[in-house]
Amino acid sequence: MDNTKLWGGEPYYGLDYEFDPQWFLTDEQKKLQRQLIEVCHDVLRPNAAKCDESGAYPWESVKALAELRLLGCIVPEKWGGRGENHTGLAMIGETITRYGCPSTGVIFMMHMAGLAALLFRAGGNLAIQELLARIDTDVMIGSASYTDPETGGHFWYPKVSGVERVDGGWHVRKRSAFTTSCGEARWMTTQTTSPGFDGDYSDLSVFLVYEDEMKPNPGLWDVMGMRATSSGPVDFDVVLPEDRMVGPPGDGAASNDEAVNAVGMIMYGALYCGVAMGALDIAKRYTTQRRHANFGQCVADYPTTHDVYGTSLVDAQAARMFLFSFCQQLDRTTNNGDWTLYEDDPDARPRSAYILWGLKVKEVAARAASEVTERMFRLFGGSGFSRNLEIERLLRDSKAGWVMGPSNEVTRGMVGRWALHGGEAVDWWNQRPNVGLLNAEIGKLDPEGKRKLIAELESTLA
Ligand SMILES: Cc1cc2nc3c(=O)[nH]c(=O)nc-3n(C[C@H](O)[C@H](O)[C@H](O)COP(=O)(O)OP(=O)(O)OC[C@H]3O[C@@H](n4cnc5c(N)ncnc54)[C@H](O)[C@@H]3O)c2cc1C
Repeated sequence: MDNTKLWGGEPYYGLDYEFDPQWFLTDEQKKLQRQLIEVCHDVLRPNAAKCDESGAYPWESVKALAELRLLGCIVPEKWGGRGENHTGLAMIGETITRYGCPSTGVIFMMHMAGLAALLFRAGGNLAIQELLARIDTDVMIGSASYTDPETGGHFWYPKVSGVERVDGGWHVRKRSAFTTSCGEARWMTTQTTSPGFDGDYSDLSVFLVYEDEMKPNPGLWDVMGMRATSSGPVDFDVVLPEDRMVGPPGDGAASNDEAVNAVGMIMYGALYCGVAMGALDIAKRYTTQRRHANFGQCVADYPTTHDVYGTSLVDAQAARMFLFSFCQQLDRTTNNGDWTLYEDDPDARPRSAYILWGLKVKEVAARAASEVTERMFRLFGGSGFSRNLEIERLLRDSKAGWVMGPSNEVTRGMVGRWALHGGEAVDWWNQRPNVGLLNAEIGKLDPEGKRKLIAELESTLA
């Protein structure tokens, strides 16, 4: 295979394959990567600027991904997909974003998060298998509608939701604050508290919902970056057939750990490594061309540029190595990304064991994207403000990774608590009282304050 990276038939203007960890990829995956770069050149990249400008949803780009059979890339072959492993998925996500369009990358990411929830419980569920079989042929773009308006980036904690068993299925109620592909997605997975909810927010259930069964509000997406993702609010108030519950009642936490988080964190890593690499690529093109007549030097000749470019490349590469190494380990523990393994063993949890690593992948990649893009922006000088040079769009897009759930602050908090006090201390659903803090606060009360507190507590027991 020729080792020159091509862009529209010409040598690529950015960093060549010698700066990509190609050794993680099989020959098949390298071939797919080249095809996808071509599609990015022809379709996704021209669309990125247009859709950023207008806020229009990039349907042409989504269709181009379906033509390459990428909407179902991780669907096992026996259910009609390409059967890609985690490493392949990361390569695809990164390629879409780096050479094509970050908004399309987010659309692809949230589609994959929803798809993972379906794949986890596709065995024996014909309603799910029917969707999987036509995901590319019918361009069935989907999404994962989880974030609740009251709990924000703690997307695994749905407050404004509920479900009851009714004649013929489930009455599902749910409000989501943000959902990518809002008003465009043909299906979504969503998560509610379980039937018979008794106050335990870790008891969650998952549903597959089609476009005519939801109430999207895409008009509320008028934003600074990731403008083409249509990530608006969605309401659900619908009776769904029995088989649209994905897995059994109460399966939500397992679905998150094993499927949505695992794939979601890979996609975060891929997407934001792609943003960082994309910024480095266009900065290489610009700084090697922009000359200052007084010194007879271009911006790329200044030692300060070498320093900032080198630092940024190392940061982006470190995030990529983390991502691909994580994927490689998931491939090892899942028989190379086999989603059919739950058919024989519904209790298998090979991915869940690595959730902590997934969180770290997300944090590192989102941070690299934000910081690298900002540094590259400065190398453009005032010209960086020009829309034509694309760096200002990447700068705006790069900011989404940090705040998307779990935000980098929340992620670091969880990793730190886990490291210092053990996994239980992460307390995903805020169920463990902080007894030391409670006693310290009670100690501040005078006798009258204590009596008042006792009365208030007793009234809650009545
Ligand atoms: C482009 C885009 C696409 C999205 N697509 C989807 C989608 O398809 N599906 C979906 O379900 N969601 C989606 N989201 C939502 C996203 O995942 C987050 O849930 C959302 O961005 C959180 O925003 P918020 O305003 O509720 O922030 P909040 O969660 O209210 O956070 C506000 C601030 O508080 C901080 N904070 C919160 N808790 C803590 C804590 N315990 N300790 C310290 N700091 C804390 C945060 O770090 C942040 O700085 C999308 C968001 C964006 C921007």
